[in-house]
Amino acid sequence: MMNTGSGLLARLRKILAPALFGPPMLAFLPALSLATYWLGGEVALLAVALGLPVLIVATGGFARFGGNGMPHDSVTGMVLRDGFEKAAEQVFEECSASNLRAAIFVIELDDYRALTDRHGQEAGDRIMQHCGSQITSVLREGDTVARIGDSRFGVCLSPTLQLDLELCIQLAGRMQAAAEEPVPLDGTTVYLSSSIGFCQRHRAPGNTTTDWISAATAALAEARSNGPGGIRAFSTDLPSRGNTRSNLREEAADALEAGHIQAWFQPQICTDTGRISGFEALARWSHPVQGLVPPSTFLPALEEAGLMDRLSQVMLYNALVAIKAWDEAGVHVPSVGVNFATQELRNPGLAARVKWELERFDLAPERLCVEILETVMTDQPDDTITRNITALSEMGCRIDLDDFGTGHASIAAVRRFSISRIKIDRSFVMKADQDPEQQKLISAVLSMAERLDLETLAEGVETTGEHALLAQLGCGHVQGFGIGRPMPFDQTLDWITAHQAKLQDTPAIGRQRP
Ligand code: C2E
Ligand code: CA
Ligand code: CA
Repeated sequence: MMNTGSGLLARLRKILAPALFGPPMLAFLPALSLATYWLGGEVALLAVALGLPVLIVATGGFARFGGNGMPHDSVTGMVLRDGFEKAAEQVFEECSASNLRAAIFVIELDDYRALTDRHGQEAGDRIMQHCGSQITSVLREGDTVARIGDSRFGVCLSPTLQLDLELCIQLAGRMQAAAEEPVPLDGTTVYLSSSIGFCQRHRAPGNTTTDWISAATAALAEARSNGPGGIRAFSTDLPSRGNTRSNLREEAADALEAGHIQAWFQPQICTDTGRISGFEALARWSHPVQGLVPPSTFLPALEEAGLMDRLSQVMLYNALVAIKAWDEAGVHVPSVGVNFATQELRNPGLAARVKWELERFDLAPERLCVEILETVMTDQPDDTITRNITALSEMGCRIDLDDFGTGHASIAAVRRFSISRIKIDRSFVMKADQDPEQQKLISAVLSMAERLDLETLAEGVETTGEHALLAQLGCGHVQGFGIGRPMPFDQTLDWITAHQAKLQDTPAIGRQRP
């Protein structure tokens, strides 16, 4: 806790700093001097001339530029990108002139945007502060840590004689564990995951510091594309990801038409029986050069291009083809979840198209689970969205309320839209077996669901501990890396066979319930 005096000073700084250091101040400085002279004469002019620098010092104006003249981040106190580049440049040159070694690491919090949406910007700042000091705590004195993006830190190690790949991986693991240390926030605990890319100085392509930093950033992109919590070293065969925004939009649009964006399938299982209750279809772009591109990269591009509706057609088609194929192979997959974004739900022809597709494939509507984000219901859905969801549920499709707990859907809305199941967001599930607060939240959601006669599924289940706890608390279904990662259709049959064999050999976790 801050004491009142320093709290007041901090608030004063926050209010005055933008006015004192912003461009308007520079513009008004001559006018201010003249006005002071006219109104108060030489004495007043002297007072302002001496008083203003004192005020700037008191509000921390010079501190923002740190000892090396580089601006610092007001939240973490770290140097920003410019300071990082300068520090990296020095290390780069020092290594060039000797046989010393160094490495740059770029660390990104995976869910920062979602966290600030949910808890607010102030909480986001606290999280970055916490992570920053955690990362710093595992480094040595001379190493540079900088805030190089909203949710990104850059680390440049100071030159050393011994630094091989193994050591870098170990260090990345230590930094990741430090960054992921849970953050206490307003009486609850926030769990984080982070991805890290790094590049050793002697492996950097090109001859400039910029090349070195870009290489570490490319490694980070690769780490992120392999799911949250990844660590990747730079190597020359990493796919290049130097896409500009408009390039990406065009490329994503072409990829969608060329069939390079396809559904991958992640299994969902019933906690009672251990049997497969369904799969969720998740979009993946198999890029010929960049490898697998995750939806967080291309969905915004498709959204900008107005192509979300087209994506839902592709995903629906892929999902129905998959159900048919599983049926023909004689394996029982009750339903497949397809995600529909707001833009797709605004299409007045959506319900009719889904009906037509189901009939074309001769599939019962309950085989399709329509996943709608909880936020769709809280953003005052327009009439078309309401009509679409109602029509789909009346037709017999199942409706899953996605990311439950991140929006504020009312019980009335849950009822009105005939939701069949709520998908408890991953943020409630993380470390639930170790944190009584998480357990309380999950229990509250589960008892509400039971009263309303809704089914439940927990997302992002990564460990057997989480799985066992959710089963014990009475959550109906689970989905997550701990059960199975999203996979291309071709791999699903093998996964199903292996899962069924496992079920026969061992008692499933969920069967412990009385
Ligand atoms: P979502 O609908 O909440 O999907 C679950 C996301 O969590 C998926 O990320 C999945 O890969 C990831 N996930 C699953 N299990 C775990 C776990 O145990 N741990 C962690 N850390 N993550 C796990 P993905 O595939 O990257 O998709 C991200 C989001 O993109 C989805 O979130 C969904 O909102 C959106 N999305 C994906 N495919 C489509 C699509 O076809 N249409 C639309 N409209 N949105 C899509
Ligand atoms: Ca979903
Ligand atoms: Ca979700």
